[in-house]
Amino acid sequence: MKATQLYAPTLRESPAEAELISHKLMYRAGLIRKAAGGLYSYLPLGWRTIKKIMQIIREEMDAKGGQEIMMPIVQPAEMWKESGRWAVYGDEMMRLKDRHGREFALGPTHEEMITTLIRDEVRSYKQLPVMLYQIQNKYRDEIRPRFGLMRSREFIMKDLYSFDRDVDGMNISYDKMYDAYSRVFERCGLKFRAVEADNGAIGGGHSHEFTVLAPSGESSIAYCENCNFAASDEKAELKIIQSAPEELKPLEKVKTPDCHTIELVKNFLNVPIEKTIKAVAFMDDDERLILAFVRGDHEVNEIKVINSVEGANHLYMAGDKLIENAGTVAGFMSPIGILNAIIVVDQSVMLMSNAVAGANEIDAHFINVTPRRDFDAEKIIVADIRMVQEGDPCPHCGSPLKMTRGIEVGQIFTLGKKYSETLNAKFLDEDGSTKVFEMGCYGIGVGRTMAAAIEQNNDADGIIWTRAIAPFEVVVVPVNAKDDKQLAFAEKIYNELQKSGVDVLLDDRKERAGVKFKDCDLIGYPLRVTISPKALESGNIEVKVRRTGEFLNFARENCVEKILELLKTL
Ligand code: ATP
Ligand code: MG
Repeated sequence: MKATQLYAPTLRESPAEAELISHKLMYRAGLIRKAAGGLYSYLPLGWRTIKKIMQIIREEMDAKGGQEIMMPIVQPAEMWKESGRWAVYGDEMMRLKDRHGREFALGPTHEEMITTLIRDEVRSYKQLPVMLYQIQNKYRDEIRPRFGLMRSREFIMKDLYSFDRDVDGMNISYDKMYDAYSRVFERCGLKFRAVEADNGAIGGGHSHEFTVLAPSGESSIAYCENCNFAASDEKAELKIIQSAPEELKPLEKVKTPDCHTIELVKNFLNVPIEKTIKAVAFMDDDERLILAFVRGDHEVNEIKVINSVEGANHLYMAGDKLIENAGTVAGFMSPIGILNAIIVVDQSVMLMSNAVAGANEIDAHFINVTPRRDFDAEKIIVADIRMVQEGDPCPHCGSPLKMTRGIEVGQIFTLGKKYSETLNAKFLDEDGSTKVFEMGCYGIGVGRTMAAAIEQNNDADGIIWTRAIAPFEVVVVPVNAKDDKQLAFAEKIYNELQKSGVDVLLDDRKERAGVKFKDCDLIGYPLRVTISPKALESGNIEVKVRRTGEFLNFARENCVEKILELLKTL
């Protein structure tokens, strides 16, 4: 391709709203343009990268037995009502009506669509396992679309769904996808971790998030440098922290005027924060009050609270009225003596002794609280409900955990029978019995992967593409394209590279060399081949490696060979 025929509008400035470097660079390098909040057009260079990522995904899905299909984006409400998700999906789902008033949604995901497709077609165990996928636009009316392609309202997702006879089969499909995902992100040149993730409402299954490590990421992950453990902060299981044994003192109520925060109480009573118990009051969808208790220096993990209370799906901050009705008061809550609430106590709290906790009345606290003595064990739920913190012991090997941030580019789940049961998707097994499918679902955000790659690979001059997903692998730049000799020479090399299978661009624009070089660096082609008057004289070709900034000189005769070799390393 020649640059004079390429639509690649580069800019000096990025839009004011762009916070992330990837968002800025995608704009400036002419990869995307915004149509409205969270809606983007992909320009030729951006689309070339997207297509390369999609091709890598296709190859890896196909290698594991995946078959590509394409389902409708517009989905009838009926199937969502049948699964029960029409009501629970909420405002994120973009809904519409046809001319007859029938309800539809723009697909945010396709479990319902694929399960209803399969239930009417796959009838025998002989047809299993089946893995079907598509690469398609998805629609989610995100509360805060931001960061360009990272969190948009229309985005390209690869979604694959597996159908198996039994749990063993489902786990095999899951492992295949785990491998395929690892290969996809490796081939895209990303530094990532597969982290154990929360499986949402689907109990007992597995889930991993594939997270690209980047300080700007929205996910927080805990990982161990000693073993391979990594988990999202929502999920990371924690060991019980043993408190040192002490002589137990009798429970006592003391006055604590205006001490409605842990900070104030600890200062007033002059105790270390690890000796305090703090409370967070939540309300669930059924307006049940849920009081969660953790050590003063720990934070409550809402997802873990949800997972530990049967029937809880969402949590909201509880209002004062609800707290009062339960017989306590905000700022002074404790599990000692409250009746009208669900009480969830972190496992580490249960091992504390002589601690400080609220007295369920204004301006008063208990001291010398010893949970296993003073709490009514029958009435409380004891669980791991706290957030992981840097330095917590690794649940696998005990080494101190580290925390880092990342961008979730893909997630895989075992779904079990969740959808096949509610949507009644059955097959006939070998022994003649009717069974429901064991399913899995597996998603990759294609645009987010492109954004994450830029987030991880850039410098002050622009993007630094890995060869596999660069819009072009090599750019050939005649320093002065007005000089026919230079242009002809450059064109020759361009043709030779193209013949050798290199994805190459000829920058034949009659711009100043400086302008073209700046664009090359901004767009981030892995190699730039410069054709200068010097090259014509000496027969030496200069090649710039974008990632290292290194300049190499190759002889005219074998320069194509050398460039091919060099590309293999990028
Ligand atoms: P998030 O937690 O970031 O909102 P999610 O868990 O809702 O994502 P999934 O349903 O697991 O996302 O979707 C699979 C993949 O699709 C994600 O891993 C991500 O790469 C991508 N994705 C999800 N939402 C968006 C979005 N709004 N914009 C761009 N990509 C997205
Ligand atoms: Mg996810």
